Amino acid sequence: MFVDSHCHFHLLEDNADTDRALAAALDEGVEHFLNVAIDVESRDALIALAERHTEISTSIGVHPSGTGEDPDEETLAALADHPLIVAVGETGLDYAYNEDRPEWQRERFRRHVRAARLIGKPVIVHTRAAPQDTLAILREEGAREVGGIIHCFTEDWPTARAMLDEGFHISLSGIVTFRNADALRGTAAHIPGDRLLIETDCPYLAPVPHRGRENQPAYVRHVAECLAEVRGESVEEVAAVTSENFYRLFPQTRPAHASA
Ligand SMILES: [Zn+2]
Ligand SMILES: [Zn+2]
Repeated sequence: MFVDSHCHFHLLEDNADTDRALAAALDEGVEHFLNVAIDVESRDALIALAERHTEISTSIGVHPSGTGEDPDEETLAALADHPLIVAVGETGLDYAYNEDRPEWQRERFRRHVRAARLIGKPVIVHTRAAPQDTLAILREEGAREVGGIIHCFTEDWPTARAMLDEGFHISLSGIVTFRNADALRGTAAHIPGDRLLIETDCPYLAPVPHRGRENQPAYVRHVAECLAEVRGESVEEVAAVTSENFYRLFPQTRPAHASA
């Protein structure tokens, strides 16, 4: 039913939590999970998790706030060349947490988009307080050739529109359920149904009514319920379109029962 387009199973508090969180999510009708990398050092562990569970696919990339290994674009492309790695990222720009080294962030973001184009896989983009620079890099690096996801979207409608025009999908997280998120709910109501995705970004950003606790993929239902309300659709409709959008973007993840 639901697809969690962006989660971090491997960042849950302890390893036992992964199996518990997966079981809880499957119980809630979450049928697929994109377990997103924030560094390249965890690649083997991420692949091993995706090998153990057919419901989990994975990605490779260095988070904009990452301080670990920082490969060049050819190395990134080689690291992404694995059947269970469906995307490059998360990558992008975070000027809210990293005000100090923006040029370095931009260069790294460009390398990720180039790697994605080399390997022909979509990009998972993280963007905070940097809408114009994010858009400029997507355009200058020809990101529309591979497309991808603007994850945990929190920007305004004109920014959403511009990112949609670059061929990207927009993924809403638990932030859309927060009491002070009226503007974001207004934007979410406008996103075309064929570009909309949902995510938890767990263990961060637990949606209402779990706000403040450790987030987990089972809670993606609350994001869907909120979107259903603001868009005047049923939860089943939101689940169906967001899952279909995900499988269209990542055809290799489509389960046998979800025929195109
Ligand atoms: Zn992120
Ligand atoms: Zn994330």
